[in-house]
Amino acid sequence: MNMTRRGFLATGAALGALWMTGQLTGCATAAPRANTVAAGVTRVDLGAVKVTMLNDGFFARPLDANFVRNAALAEVQAALAAAGLPTDRVEVPFNPLVVDVGGQRVLFDAGNGQFGAATAGKLLDNMAKAGIAPESITAVVISHFHGDHINGLRDKAGQLVFANARIHVPEPEWNWWMDDARMAAAPEAMKGAFNATRRVFGPLADAVVKFAPGAEVVPGVRSLPAHGHTPGHTVFTVEGGTRRLMFWADTSNVAALFVRNPDWAVMFDMDAEAARQTRRKLSEMVVNENLLLAGYHLPGAGIGTLVRRGNGYDFIPLSD
Ligand SMILES: [Zn+2]
Repeated sequence: MNMTRRGFLATGAALGALWMTGQLTGCATAAPRANTVAAGVTRVDLGAVKVTMLNDGFFARPLDANFVRNAALAEVQAALAAAGLPTDRVEVPFNPLVVDVGGQRVLFDAGNGQFGAATAGKLLDNMAKAGIAPESITAVVISHFHGDHINGLRDKAGQLVFANARIHVPEPEWNWWMDDARMAAAPEAMKGAFNATRRVFGPLADAVVKFAPGAEVVPGVRSLPAHGHTPGHTVFTVEGGTRRLMFWADTSNVAALFVRNPDWAVMFDMDAEAARQTRRKLSEMVVNENLLLAGYHLPGAGIGTLVRRGNGYDFIPLSD
């Protein structure tokens, strides 16, 4: 780099312009600030893109040897302890987000609604705190069909909760879960999951918008195939703001376990090896392309950055 270019780089405006064109991707840039406006409501201002993280509560389960399929319980407990977390249970948070982009108000995943644990189903309360009316959502984008991501779309009375929104779903996810022959042949333990998809989507078969992973879903929101957690699990990038954002949904569960140790498999991954490869690939993409990262089960407000550490990564939540 010659001196003229160094001089040019010294101005913040020029840095910003270069960063916007991607020429400085990978260089250290200050992370945006989080603005916690209430417990469970965090805003991140990315200029033309506004992000609002809306916590939907959490689910706590006793830790047993099944939670991580391919690591010894003692190792799992050690990883939790190293992160300052309890070792007798795991708390799994739910973090849907609303992104205002390109004139649309997009909700990514819909929470547990009235169908989860007593500690979950807080999305609508937190939306109210944020001043976001459910009717103002113009698009709901679904990552996959597990109940904690879709049950909030429809209440117990059968009413759609986001009445004015188009609902966008990954086509391979739809095709897998909505196959009646597969449902009939499924083991008893999976019947509840299949039933949830019918309750939510059955009356909507002609109304949902099915997209092929890789396609742009709405202007500024691109999908990326990320199967493994489920057959059609899909993640998203949001463009147009001061920093690109990835919402990686269930690419990882509890960060202290599966971000830190990307080769570990949570019991909910339907194809553990494909999920592991997806987790590795997307983690590298987030670091190399200097993306902001939102995840449905990431801690804190569920939004931050990723750094490499040893054989894995650390998730660094944005701070206020
Ligand atoms: Zn999930």
